Amino acid sequence: MAPPAELLQKENDEFLRGDLTLNENETLMFKSASLCPECLKLIPMLVFERDGKAMLRKVCKEHGMIEDVYWADAKLLEKAKKYEVKGRGLVNPHNEKEHPVCPQDCGLCSIHETHSGLTNLVITNRCDLTCWYCFFYAEAAGYIYEPSLDEIRNMIRLVTQEKPIKGNAIQLTGGNPELREDLPEIIKICKEEGIDHIQINTNATHRLHNDAQFAKNIREAGANTVYLSFDGVTPRTNPKNHWEVPGVLKNLREANLGAVLVPTLINTVNDHEIGDILKFGFKHNDIIRTCRQDAAQGQGEIQDNDT
Ligand code: SF4
Ligand SMILES: [Zn+2]
Repeated sequence: MAPPAELLQKENDEFLRGDLTLNENETLMFKSASLCPECLKLIPMLVFERDGKAMLRKVCKEHGMIEDVYWADAKLLEKAKKYEVKGRGLVNPHNEKEHPVCPQDCGLCSIHETHSGLTNLVITNRCDLTCWYCFFYAEAAGYIYEPSLDEIRNMIRLVTQEKPIKGNAIQLTGGNPELREDLPEIIKICKEEGIDHIQINTNATHRLHNDAQFAKNIREAGANTVYLSFDGVTPRTNPKNHWEVPGVLKNLREANLGAVLVPTLINTVNDHEIGDILKFGFKHNDIIRTCRQDAAQGQGEIQDNDT
């Protein structure tokens, strides 16, 4: 098994002598590999310090040079890297190719360095909302994806059979998983297959905000946490579920089901409310366990300066 950085070391060195170079005011931090955003080819990447920022630069032979901010604070990146842990990967990857090509042969392949910490299991791509920044729901995808109960059980078995470390935590995600009437049954299947931690990733606008019994049903089925979309503390920053959240928290309290606040942070849209989101979490810390801040990631739909 060879990680991408090692696979590309030789090519990287060639690039350093050629197209992928550093300027005088730039200091190399490390070499790695990344995707060309146009053709998705795996290409060498340099991460370097310039003016206190960690920058990335990569060159696709076909699509030219890509440069962007990697971390806004290079010193903080250095500090964070001290906590980096390389895993052992899977000895029984789900892709049998000897030399898989990332990302075309995804699934998990032998290039992965870690085991499955929290497996994301998509149970539907249907959603009752159409968030402008979402790339995933059915309308954006152009088709409906919804595995059967048998397919879900088989996927969970793949996770629990992973070696050397078996997967034991699953996030049921979407779309909006609440749209599946059989969600309690899916949670029970996770339990039957030996999953210890089950969290439901949802905007909670379909049932959890106005159906206390549904909250109790999924808790009794074995759900541990609701991973709750929560983009801000005002209707403007959180049009998604601002008016529903009070009902959601009430029903979760009654069901004794904890929640994680999950804002999707977008530059100039809601990042000014990071502090207020945390305060909201502290105010409701009897039921809110933590706050997970996800930075929006440009996938070609959003302009470079938006994220
Ligand atoms: S709620 Fe989530 S899945 Fe649904 S459209 Fe918004 S971001 Fe996408
Ligand atoms: Zn390319």
